[in-house]
Amino acid sequence: MSLWIPRVVVLLASIVMIAIRAPHGQRSRQVTVARSHRGVLEIVLLTTAWVGFFIPLIWVAYPPIFKFAEYATEPVSVVGGTLLLAFSLYVFFRSHADLGTNWSITLEVREKHRLVVDGVYRRIRHPMYLALFLYGVGQALVLANWFAGPSYFVVMFVMFCFRLRAEEHMMVVTFGKDYEQYMARTKRLIPGVW
Ligand code: SAH
Repeated sequence: MSLWIPRVVVLLASIVMIAIRAPHGQRSRQVTVARSHRGVLEIVLLTTAWVGFFIPLIWVAYPPIFKFAEYATEPVSVVGGTLLLAFSLYVFFRSHADLGTNWSITLEVREKHRLVVDGVYRRIRHPMYLALFLYGVGQALVLANWFAGPSYFVVMFVMFCFRLRAEEHMMVVTFGKDYEQYMARTKRLIPGVW
């Protein structure tokens, strides 16, 4: 299979992801931060996330650069990966819409921060991380390269391992009983499972 289709899919998905996030990034800068938990670990994790996001784009620009890790592209994998990317971008869009100005790229509590428990937050506490995780899996399926394919999945996995606990701790400290009750009736990433 020609590499053109996977290249176009990876490029389009990246553009859509940036387009969904950009207005929120801009708006969030205008909301005053009440408390920030941006430590050294957060900065390292965010930098790694950006590297993991850009490696597939380097492949899009010039696939032979990662020739050492290339394998045959399977059409069924590209189709499945594309569907997963589309679904993940939909969940990414919805979670941004539901969080509104309460969203931040790092662990922060905003002034007048409101606990969101509806929409895609009704059954799981981290739909945005789920979306990013599925995006990483989708990209790994579309991009037939052992290095560039799973790069985003790997960095996101590492990020969740460090972040989930810290974020939930921050939310319990901020919202107390309300967040504890929310935790009791929801799961982290997979509805009804975990
Ligand atoms: N973990 C969530 C949100 C990611 S954005 C998700 O995956 O969907 C990270 C910021 O969102 C955190 O700094 C926190 O301030 C905020 N946040 C997380 N869960 C929230 C909720 N239920 N309501 C309001 N803000 C939330």
